[in-house]
Amino acid sequence: MKTTATCPACEQPISIWRIVSAPTPIHLSCSSCKTKIRPKGWTILSLITALAIGFALGFSLSRFYRDDQLSILGAIAIAVGVLIVVEFIWGLLICNRATLEAHSK
Ligand SMILES: [Zn+2]
Repeated sequence: MKTTATCPACEQPISIWRIVSAPTPIHLSCSSCKTKIRPKGWTILSLITALAIGFALGFSLSRFYRDDQLSILGAIAIAVGVLIVVEFIWGLLICNRATLEAHSK
């Protein structure tokens, strides 16, 4: 299993942390040449995944919160924890499965 991807422009490795810490998983940039990069053909997939996770998380947390099983801080902590895990899995998927392409937008 790889924990780096390769920049399509300069062929330098892009670490999984670079992918995980990107503002969104489809707005990556190379740390060496600053080229904007995205995983080819994954834009729709990642949007659907993000919406599905966001919806499921929001729905279940608001339900727990309303039932007084969770404080607001607890809900935020769980949301942040889940997002970190999801980002990490996403980063691994991009490193191991995605073809990266440069884009100029
Ligand atoms: Zn590069």
